[in-house]
Amino acid sequence: MSVDRATPGSQSSLREANRARIVDAIKHFGAITQVELAGATGLSTATISTIVKELVAAGVLMTAPVSRSGRRAQQVSLARQLGMVAGVHFSQRMLRIELADMAGTVVAEQHMPLPHEHRVDTGMDRAARLIQDMVEAVGGRPEELLGIGVAVSAPVDVRTGMLSASGILRGWDEVDIPTSFSRRIGKPVWIDNDANLAIVSEQRYGAAQGCNAAVFLYVGHGVGAGLLVDGRLVRGQSGMAGEIGHIRVVENGRVCTCGNRGCLETVVNSTVLVETLRATHGNLALRDIIAKALAGDVGCTRVLADSAEYVGVALAALCNVFNPQRVVVGGELGAAGEIILAPLRTAAARASLSSQFTTLEVVQSSLGAAAEVRGAVALALDSVTLPIGTLEAAHVY
Ligand SMILES: [Zn+2]
Repeated sequence: MSVDRATPGSQSSLREANRARIVDAIKHFGAITQVELAGATGLSTATISTIVKELVAAGVLMTAPVSRSGRRAQQVSLARQLGMVAGVHFSQRMLRIELADMAGTVVAEQHMPLPHEHRVDTGMDRAARLIQDMVEAVGGRPEELLGIGVAVSAPVDVRTGMLSASGILRGWDEVDIPTSFSRRIGKPVWIDNDANLAIVSEQRYGAAQGCNAAVFLYVGHGVGAGLLVDGRLVRGQSGMAGEIGHIRVVENGRVCTCGNRGCLETVVNSTVLVETLRATHGNLALRDIIAKALAGDVGCTRVLADSAEYVGVALAALCNVFNPQRVVVGGELGAAGEIILAPLRTAAARASLSSQFTTLEVVQSSLGAAAEVRGAVALALDSVTLPIGTLEAAHVY
């Protein structure tokens, strides 16, 4: 917070600390009732009510009446006019961008395919241009954009802003991505791995709501996982936690992009699926395979189920270590629903401690293809410094 100018220990510094706690909780939850806010911050409802009133008068917060279990309540969120943030997702094949107001409501979205083995400089140039166009299209001024969260399909060391394993997203290695992107767009930029950000968004807005221990499982052009343990994201020492795509599932199998043999990603990826079906089904794209399987094609259903079984073996290992309550399955293959989920559950149950599976839920992502980019929006909302230093100028205190 940039507002802490008061003497430590003084009455006004306590009030500023309480104000910061309230604003941080609202940034985290998006919109929250005053009673929930008391639970989240540990402050009394009277203190909350006073501070919320002051921050509404200062234009930092806004309130709206809502109904909770039949009762009327006041819902508090950040005021829309405070500004906007953008979320960007660079995946293996797609660039996805969302623009959101400070209450977390998405006001614009865009996506475009990226060429195979796209490069960091062209990717960032493209994203910067698109974001500027989107801000303009919603009638915003450039200064209203406060920051950008970036999700990338590779393990990231968030301390350096660089990918922590080379060769996985070729053309993006050895670059301090936030610094380089920030230089292009003139705004603060924060970065994390896309599966990590997807479990954040699923927990906040999607299928993992209410879970303190959950896994987001990406299955599509490769396989990856984001882990939430005790309500916190697990990144590991250098951002490599959750890279289940590189668990060995085939002894002496094919050589992987990481240099090892028989990794899960060598048997579960879009290229393998397409190749497996070429002789019988011709040249299908991944989305065609899923559409045909959903329409009842036996061959397409079979290759998807085979993939899910491999993923289930790796998932069991993950569950034995982390003991999650819910696994949220996303990515392109996640869209196949029960065609993937059913064999995944069976294979995972077979390979894990049986008591795990009496309580574990394996469900489809409710945010779908937007899970990662929505997580990038959440990252920006959590990280942004709000322009509330002007409070004193407004004579609120
Ligand atoms: Zn590998």
